[in-house]
Amino acid sequence: MENLHEECGVFGVYSPKKTNVAATTYYGLFALQHRGQESCGIVVNDEGVFNHYKDSGLVNDVFTPEVMAELGEGNIALGHVRYGTTGKGDRVNSQPIVVNHVKGRMALAYNGNIVNYMELRQELEMTGAIFHTTSDMEVISYIITKERLNSHSIEEAIDCAMDKIKGAYSLVVMSPQKLIAARDKNGFKPLCYGQTKDGRYIVASESCALNAVGAELIREIKPGEIVIFDKDGIRTITNHCEKEKEALCIFEYIYFARPDSVIEGQSVHKARMIAGAALAKDYPVEADVVIGVPDSGIDAAVGYAKESGIPYGVGFIKNKYIGRTFIAPGQKTREDKVRIKLNVVSETVKGKRVVLIDDSIVRGTTCARIVKLLREAGAKEVHMRVSAPPFINLCYYGTDIESKENLISCKHTTEEICKMANMDSLGFLNIEDLSKLIGEENNNSICAACFNSKYPTKIPENNEETKVSYGTITWTENRNNETSDGSLYVGNQVTSANDYLALGPNN
Ligand code: AMP
Repeated sequence: MENLHEECGVFGVYSPKKTNVAATTYYGLFALQHRGQESCGIVVNDEGVFNHYKDSGLVNDVFTPEVMAELGEGNIALGHVRYGTTGKGDRVNSQPIVVNHVKGRMALAYNGNIVNYMELRQELEMTGAIFHTTSDMEVISYIITKERLNSHSIEEAIDCAMDKIKGAYSLVVMSPQKLIAARDKNGFKPLCYGQTKDGRYIVASESCALNAVGAELIREIKPGEIVIFDKDGIRTITNHCEKEKEALCIFEYIYFARPDSVIEGQSVHKARMIAGAALAKDYPVEADVVIGVPDSGIDAAVGYAKESGIPYGVGFIKNKYIGRTFIAPGQKTREDKVRIKLNVVSETVKGKRVVLIDDSIVRGTTCARIVKLLREAGAKEVHMRVSAPPFINLCYYGTDIESKENLISCKHTTEEICKMANMDSLGFLNIEDLSKLIGEENNNSICAACFNSKYPTKIPENNEETKVSYGTITWTENRNNETSDGSLYVGNQVTSANDYLALGPNN
């Protein structure tokens, strides 16, 4: 998915006493790895000394025992996993970032996309701000540090900054004394917190990361809420709550989140099962077996099988050892990549009428290749069912598609896609069924703009152009400039308020 940005994952830990918070963050990030495999980073706070390390690669590869030992102990830590487009300076784009400002030091990491980024940046530039990148994170940190000049605390500065920043963000901030979590007013991106038995507070994009470190989910951070964890316990600021329509990204349930996570009280696994069952009701077909495309198509396939009575079968084996961004050395074509990632279990499909379930069709290349693989393995018929409606709009909140041109459902009807991909039949989830995924009571609280064009916020004017300008920025990566791009261990060496780290767009 070279042209798509995806969600990132954030993680934070506050411990009442000095301990191995780096290890906790490591395990948390490991559980969030599906939200981003491009780069990752951890910052540990040891009595106001921020030790940090970040680099491109998977958590397991970046955080070697040596790096973990260097990070040392502390009582607060932040972590981030990032997914972005390939070839855009992966290393320099990594988070968290650490900044020193006139009132102290802070580290920040976030997941989302700032809709009024251009406006904010221009405003700051007119007051003399210097930017190293086109990153949203750089703008957010500038605004918070600016607000900090006239605030009594970092949380007050974040509160003021939230008046200015529009769009989607789930943010974790660390000061020498505090861990702070904040969620945008619409609550586009998930963010929750919990506690371990020994009293550590954990903040994470998804509850699966809480489970991974032995913490129990306490609750979601509310849209617009700021939650502060420090030596006095937990406090919240709710000035921005209930000011905007709640609009959690429906794609979290469809594709982004892990099935074992619970978001806004709804199990992701259950939501996908419901989508599968709805597809079985809306598009019944006579078939011998139902199979799902790993990973995010599996739960919906089980839901379809259960509802239709057609047996579920294991149709694919996915190579577990490659990330979503895998690029085969010396192999350029996406077809090769699909083959390497996914193998058909011919025993399941040979001579059979197959119902194939995937979570979405975006550009339409993946489904065509998967159908081809099934036919080669001897499938008699392939009936594709998609557990999302046709993807027809740009997203300004994180799923960054460069142009509508890339969206197959914008250019072709369902019948045409079916024919082009050599399917026997094709059915997309009906838009009306989306509300079933999250329970009728949450009906009004999702953003499904990518499917229904109802954007919960003002979107940038001249949409296509804005997207293209993001997409064509060329990133320069200076691998020798280790300390200023922050990609190597720099301990406590960030020295000026302008030493913002080089980052990439959108995450
Ligand atoms: P395509 O139709 O070729 O664009 O591919 C759709 C496939 O990509 C589906 O199987 C999804 O699981 C996956 N997918 C959906 N959304 C995204 C995204 N934002 N980033 C990466 N992969 C995605």
